[in-house]
Amino acid sequence: MVRWALNLKDYDYTILYRSGSQMAHVDALSRIQVLTNQCTDSIVYMIKEHQELDPHIISIKALLQNGPYDNYRIKNYILHKCIAGAEVLVIPNGMQHHFIKNAHDKGQFSVKRALEHIKNNSFIPQFQSKIEKYISSCVTCILKNKKSGKQERFLHPIVKDDVPLNTYHIDHLGPLATSSKNYKFILAVIDCFTKFAWLYPKKTTSTSEVIKKLGIQKTTFENPRFLITDRGTTFTADEFHTYCSEQNISLHHITTGLPRAKCQVDQ
Ligand SMILES: [Zn+2]
Repeated sequence: MVRWALNLKDYDYTILYRSGSQMAHVDALSRIQVLTNQCTDSIVYMIKEHQELDPHIISIKALLQNGPYDNYRIKNYILHKCIAGAEVLVIPNGMQHHFIKNAHDKGQFSVKRALEHIKNNSFIPQFQSKIEKYISSCVTCILKNKKSGKQERFLHPIVKDDVPLNTYHIDHLGPLATSSKNYKFILAVIDCFTKFAWLYPKKTTSTSEVIKKLGIQKTTFENPRFLITDRGTTFTADEFHTYCSEQNISLHHITTGLPRAKCQVDQ
């Protein structure tokens, strides 16, 4: 006010009160929330400068010279858009990132809230997708938002044996072309230490057949201490668990979708 008084002291003037509602055309910019939050004049100046460089805005301005177009208006050389009765500034391409970042940094963390915040003050073409893109790539948010569902855990490496016939990896191969004796699967049993492989022909992948073959294996080599299998129904069946516990074999099922855990048998 002192500055105004000093500026005006050279003039002979009368001050008349005029209500805010009659001053809407002058006050509009200063009443925009996002602008009052910041340095009003410099932001408007920047918007004007950037609008003059934005090809999209330049073409809209050119269209407006032929008459009204899509609720756009030019005021003080700045392009505005009329949305739901309010005239808002059209944010040029070069400043959209700044506006979205500003809204997001001020606590409008969700797409919806940032959208509402910006929509009240300004117009950004295709702003929903632009906000979504910005928020989805915001490093702070990515780091803060913990993944839902199962959390990552440590791996449980299979302890390496230093004796033969201690751990077996077993799995099925097939179905293959049926043999004359009706075999169409192969049960592969691989010793973890020596990599020695036994291959048993099988008619089905049933649990009882696997148990039978392991019985044959046992007569020559005794039972292994550990058995490593995938989570196929043959090996997860109760019957198989019962067999292993009766035979004092420790059964390990590997993680689903992680074939490298039993790569010895998969190779
Ligand atoms: Zn963020």
